[in-house]
Amino acid sequence: MNGSAYGKAEGMKATLIHGTHDIRVSSDVPDPVIRDDTDAIVRVLRSCICGSDLWPYNSADDNPQGDRIGHEFLGVIEEVGSGVRNRTAGQLVVAPFVWADNTCDFCAQGLQTSCRHGGGWGSDGTDGGQGEAVRVPFADGTLVPMPGEPDDALLASMLTLSDVFSTGHHAAVSARVRRGDTVAVVGDGAVGLCAVLAAKRLGAERIILLGRHTDRTDLGREFGATDVVAERGDEAVEKVRELTGGDGVDAALECVGYVEAIRTAIEVTKDGRLVGRVGVSQYSDIPLGVGEFMRNVGVHGGVAPARAYIEELLPDVLEGRIQPGRVFDRTIGLDEVPDGYRAMNDREALKVLIKP
Ligand SMILES: [Zn+2]
Repeated sequence: MNGSAYGKAEGMKATLIHGTHDIRVSSDVPDPVIRDDTDAIVRVLRSCICGSDLWPYNSADDNPQGDRIGHEFLGVIEEVGSGVRNRTAGQLVVAPFVWADNTCDFCAQGLQTSCRHGGGWGSDGTDGGQGEAVRVPFADGTLVPMPGEPDDALLASMLTLSDVFSTGHHAAVSARVRRGDTVAVVGDGAVGLCAVLAAKRLGAERIILLGRHTDRTDLGREFGATDVVAERGDEAVEKVRELTGGDGVDAALECVGYVEAIRTAIEVTKDGRLVGRVGVSQYSDIPLGVGEFMRNVGVHGGVAPARAYIEELLPDVLEGRIQPGRVFDRTIGLDEVPDGYRAMNDREALKVLIKP
């Protein structure tokens, strides 16, 4: 925000998507203001680009006005509405990738992504996260305070609670990963690597990472993967079955979203066990035929209710036992966001951190 002392030049910098491969950073997006008394204004300290931002990046229709984009951010509360009770100006907070009242029946059961009054960033009049500031609806319910005075590395790990690490955790929770399990993770993107870390955290003993980008699977090994399978399709299934004495794994975490990935995940899962899927599905039919019926293999999961997990995951992040922020391999300013999208889309960067 660059509102001058002379009362003009209002407006802030924020990212807009104007169409396929057309990301622009505007300097005169309206400054956010409190609209409902339960709102807060958050000045963004860190944001990032999500693998799921690449879907609109590769498919959006032309839009001269541009749409706000970005749904992962962390920042400092600048102002709160008169109805906000437990959040105050000056607090460092993480915003989960959807906003929610955190009081309705869905929120009470930990499914804030289905909140009866919630919504997504960057749509229906809310700000996107890839900008200088954001109006946050239901500040008490949405925002999670972060303690201490974190350094850059800790801020990066805190930011992953907004989406990518919480999503990896959701894959592991959805597949009911238990202590001592053998787990397969399909996909070596940032979510897949976070799923490795989450499975390890939940006590998985053996973690087979399916991916073929060595630099990424190397980080996966540091996160806890014990085996890497670079093959794809039937060959990958054969390899995983070979590694597990023919039975397959106790849990498979699908972190890609393509039909080939979900098929692989289902085929490597041991009879009676579950696939946790968190890859944004680019398919409408899950291959669950009579073969899978006879094997009692199930598929569970979907969009991750990050808000339900942040408090639980935070202590391990604060104490440095896990460092999910290591998935960020490039840091840019707001002006470089268009190139950040390009770099992630070209698989040149794993995940891009934005410092507005
Ligand atoms: Zn709710």
